[in-house]
Amino acid sequence: MLGLMQSQPLLISGLIEFAERHHGDAEIVSRRVEGDIHRYTYKDSAQRARQVAQALDALKLDFSDRVATLAWNGYRHFELYYGVSGSGRVLHTINPRLHPDQIAWIANHAEDQVLCFDLSFLPLVQTVHARCSTIKHFIALCDEDKLPKDSGIPHLISYERWLGEQSGIYAWPSFDENSASSMCYTSGTTGNPKAALYSHRSSTLHAYAAALPDVMCISARDAILPVVPMFHVNAWGIPYSAALTGAKLVFPGPALDGKSVYELIEAEKVTFAAGVPTVWQMMLGHMKPAGLRFSTLKRTVIGGSACPPAMIRAFNEDYGVEVLHAWGMTEMSPLGTLCTLKNKHDALPEVEKMKIRLKQGRAIYGVDMKIVDAAGKELPWDGKTSGNLYVKGPWIVREYFKSEGGDPLVDGWFPTGDVGTIDADGYLQITDRSKDVIKSGGEWISSIEVENIAMAHPAVAMAACIGMRHPKWDERPILAVVKKPGMDTSREELMRFYEGKTAKWQIPDDVVFVDAIPLGATGKMLKTKLREMLKDYRLPGA
Ligand code: ADP
Repeated sequence: MLGLMQSQPLLISGLIEFAERHHGDAEIVSRRVEGDIHRYTYKDSAQRARQVAQALDALKLDFSDRVATLAWNGYRHFELYYGVSGSGRVLHTINPRLHPDQIAWIANHAEDQVLCFDLSFLPLVQTVHARCSTIKHFIALCDEDKLPKDSGIPHLISYERWLGEQSGIYAWPSFDENSASSMCYTSGTTGNPKAALYSHRSSTLHAYAAALPDVMCISARDAILPVVPMFHVNAWGIPYSAALTGAKLVFPGPALDGKSVYELIEAEKVTFAAGVPTVWQMMLGHMKPAGLRFSTLKRTVIGGSACPPAMIRAFNEDYGVEVLHAWGMTEMSPLGTLCTLKNKHDALPEVEKMKIRLKQGRAIYGVDMKIVDAAGKELPWDGKTSGNLYVKGPWIVREYFKSEGGDPLVDGWFPTGDVGTIDADGYLQITDRSKDVIKSGGEWISSIEVENIAMAHPAVAMAACIGMRHPKWDERPILAVVKKPGMDTSREELMRFYEGKTAKWQIPDDVVFVDAIPLGATGKMLKTKLREMLKDYRLPGA
């Protein structure tokens, strides 16, 4: 016997329809590429999203055709999120920090038909457009009077003119909720990039889950600043969860420096912000010397790479802001775990609570996880045994776009490539990417743990731990350190800093000071590049 409830597909258009009808006057504020502040409401935004849908119809785009963006977080990008997916096309957000060759490669692989770009990326589009053979329409996200003349880009039109030709009188189509809605290429540190292809159903379920109290706790009382880019993994789903709850949205545009982000938080009374550790490091670096405080910020979700304990403590103890440490990946839409305490932890002393908050958190309903050994055997949840982390759930990839890379699943589970422990309460702690684990004398050393300790030293801006070949121990850890401007420390001082904080054999054998640690397109440390940089390095005594 089937249930007798209404059957309504979970479509992305439903989110903006809801926001328009029930939170029509909630604000969306954007710092524009032009530098000024733009503000309007969900109602205005829904109207323009429908104009996008009509404009795509006018271009004769088919269902599932790909529309690419090269854009910062802003209201026009938000309209494309809804207009493109809502009308049945697939939004392909391209990470502008990728190499131009890679951008051309993925635009061709995705068979993008349209490219919408912020004017900051005009030089990039000028470099790649001739190589993007499937793109027929180039649209600059700007007013008509800002449209560059003689750009060399064929038939370039302004977004405002493109939309201006449409009425916005349009009914969102209904279709199978399993239809593709958006796509995002992984950075492809090995081989060509592969695309996660999200569906309306997976994105809507993820948006529901992301808003839960034990996840990002998003509500109509929030003003949200997603610093995490809309060009990578849908800004962690925030553009969807915000519409689902009617929260105010504040978009930072291209101004991601500490001062701009801090000023936007204060000016727009932001209560909740989301970003990777490097962004917050810049902001705290701006605030501390100036003695600045937050007046409205309550929580921040930090993920994308391990959040150093020193940062969690600084937010918590110095600024009264709760840090929600999150773990996930492109293939997981991206949220997998988020760290909030359980009822039984209430009575714990503050130091014990902090030990839990430093972990990557527990699974969100919808995500199941397990750790396995090299033979695929499930390992115990004791908080000590570390293993390869596998996940499954309705917003986790089944396969990549165009079956690139073959079947990624193992008995229905997706191997994340991460290594970690899970404790008896289900809290995950990531110790490494499997390729970065340091194997020393038959034991594993967590590079993240070694880095976290160094990051608590006042003179350390960034630290990366990598394994170096050793004749006796196979590998030994060394630490590459970038010093904070105007601060000094020495190899000896840093090595001493480890004493009493970790087992002796986990202390790095050496410290090398570098000007910068190479970062990838999503702000993660590129340890392969660092290893190349240090290829002539020899361990002391090795
Ligand atoms: P995202 O851009 O969402 O970080 P990517 O697919 O680019 O997604 O990267 C995912 C990888 O980033 C994870 O597999 C993991 O190695 C790392 N990562 C993400 N969050 C954390 C975290 N909180 N702690 C440690 N590593 C993390």
